[in-house]
Amino acid sequence: MPPNRSSGLDFSDGKGALDQHPDVPTNYAGGSQPSHLQRNKTERRRLQGLQRTLTTSSISNTSSKPMGWHQKFDIWMINDGGRQLFFGVWIFLHLLVAVFGFIHYSLKDNLRTARQLFGTTFAIARTAALVLHIDVIFILLPVCRNFISMLRRTPLNDFIPFDKNITFHKATAWSIVAGTVVHILAHMVNFAKLAMLDPNAKTTGQRIAAFFAANFLTGPGATGWIMTAALGVMVFFAIEKRRRAHFEWFWYSHHLFIVFFICWQLHGMFCMIKPDRPPYCSFNTIGVFWRYWLVGGVIWIGERILREVRSRHITYISKVIQHPSNVMEIQIKKEKTTTRAGQYIFLSCPEVSYFQWHPFTLTSAPEEDYISVHIRVVGDFTKALAKAVGCDFDSKDKKSEKGDAPAGGKVVGTVANPPINRTLPRVMVDGPFGSASEDFLNYETILLVGAGIGVTPFASILKSIWYRMNNFNHSKPTRLSKVYFTWVIRDFGTAEWFHSLLHAIEEQDTSNRIEINIYLTAKIKEDDMNNIIVQDVGAEKDAITSLRAPTHFGRPNWDRVFSSIAEKHPETDVGVFFCGPAVLSKNLKQMSNKYSQPQGTRFFFGKENF
Ligand SMILES: Cc1cc2nc3c(=O)[nH]c(=O)nc-3n(C[C@H](O)[C@H](O)[C@H](O)COP(=O)(O)OP(=O)(O)OC[C@H]3O[C@@H](n4cnc5c(N)ncnc54)[C@H](O)[C@@H]3O)c2cc1C
Repeated sequence: MPPNRSSGLDFSDGKGALDQHPDVPTNYAGGSQPSHLQRNKTERRRLQGLQRTLTTSSISNTSSKPMGWHQKFDIWMINDGGRQLFFGVWIFLHLLVAVFGFIHYSLKDNLRTARQLFGTTFAIARTAALVLHIDVIFILLPVCRNFISMLRRTPLNDFIPFDKNITFHKATAWSIVAGTVVHILAHMVNFAKLAMLDPNAKTTGQRIAAFFAANFLTGPGATGWIMTAALGVMVFFAIEKRRRAHFEWFWYSHHLFIVFFICWQLHGMFCMIKPDRPPYCSFNTIGVFWRYWLVGGVIWIGERILREVRSRHITYISKVIQHPSNVMEIQIKKEKTTTRAGQYIFLSCPEVSYFQWHPFTLTSAPEEDYISVHIRVVGDFTKALAKAVGCDFDSKDKKSEKGDAPAGGKVVGTVANPPINRTLPRVMVDGPFGSASEDFLNYETILLVGAGIGVTPFASILKSIWYRMNNFNHSKPTRLSKVYFTWVIRDFGTAEWFHSLLHAIEEQDTSNRIEINIYLTAKIKEDDMNNIIVQDVGAEKDAITSLRAPTHFGRPNWDRVFSSIAEKHPETDVGVFFCGPAVLSKNLKQMSNKYSQPQGTRFFFGKENF
């Protein structure tokens, strides 16, 4: 990222046209939008700078300019190039290994007997096995989260897409599946040839029996089929849809990797197909799986030990707050923990389940003496955890659903004053681990977009910025000078989760460095709408959030948002950070590419999906 790229910011709002309504698509702006969406005068004055800019012209300009291939390439390199090139190199490496492996096994002089016996399928089976060994080098590395978190802070992060670690793990897994299928098919042909040549098998029945015996009664055959079964179960439960629906099945079945690896090591140790010359079955030629596995395996074991060590650090829940819209906030004190804004932890509560570890993004800032998470209660684990810490979301509190709950949520219990009839349960914390959002300080301007509970990484970032604004943070100054925070929420109650944080930011942010835009997408009942309109007239605060920044109704108009930022921050690298559903993520990535100009504003997109 060239350091001299600068927007020349003045942090002022500029004198944009106030008359345009920011929430509705441009074709509404001619006056045909529903009347209840019209901003009253005080609301228009309170509009954040981004929403005041008249950008209709820039929207059409950006999309209509034809681009040369050079420009297209530069734009491709901003968000996709590095990642796609990395995967391209990875595929090329596989092809290279496959081609050279095949040539090697087809020509090697001490494998003549095997080739004469089996034909090409011998070389194919061996080549597939070689590619599988290459995959085993990589399969564990992307799930070593401490290792990845450490590497993503090095210059390697500019070349290797560390945030795509799970995609890389999946790609390697699919390559193992493909290699396994090829290896099995080739060996089935080999086993059939063996059965046909078996001097003791005279009839078809005896040949079929010999074929099955080679499959299930020989060491390589039996271990091979156990490995295949283990791999099949792991893949079956790891398919995205099934994993999302039955996470626990996925989690427990994935531990079959232990069986898979042990059988793999044994599989190669039987020396079934011997070379022509001695040494026939030396330490260097058979059972070499462990050598390929070693690096990833040792790091992975190290990570598991670290998890055990960390889970034994003194850790206790210091406060539990129940928020509206099924969200609880758990504040935790943990010794020997330093965090960075945007990171996440794995949380386990032995009272609920000793083996389950669930990821949650930190909502506390590094400057705070506790760590906190905001957890949306969605399934088995989170429901059981909510019950264990004393939250009660079942008795429907209409007040809190409407967002009338006490500001900052309802304190359910603290370590000194636990909830009635219970002590707060023990929790274990692993992490913190790095994520894309952690890079927010690398940019001069950032656009943070959270959808629903996807706001959590940005709460931590905003808090940290607030501490910086108030000189509580003494680390070296950063280039970050403007933050656009956009939060898309479905209901009124959600707006309360970070009520006090957003208020504090508005109070303190006299130079308008942080623009807050909250979008409410729920259909609003007529009664509620009338209430809002009445409360909004002449008010200095928004009726829903009680912030100065008015709430927008409906979905954000991303064209307007991106073109406004491009207009206000020419020649600037803007970090776009998103956390929320995949559909919106795709949309924002498209927008980042659409409004990036190699010599102008460049939008660097980073995302997190829960
Ligand atoms: C990096 C990351 C950060 C997250 N941060 C937050 C946060 O700040 N606040 C929040 O409310 N939620 C967060 N989540 C989602 C949270 O982990 C799940 O909602 C939680 O694990 C659900 O567990 P459950 O058994 O109650 O629900 P289930 O009904 O069992 O699962 C609901 C969904 O969560 C997924 N899930 C379940 N268990 C896990 C697990 N151990 N690891 C990964 N995914 C799982 C399932 O695939 C499913 O899609 C985060 C997820 C990730 C990957």
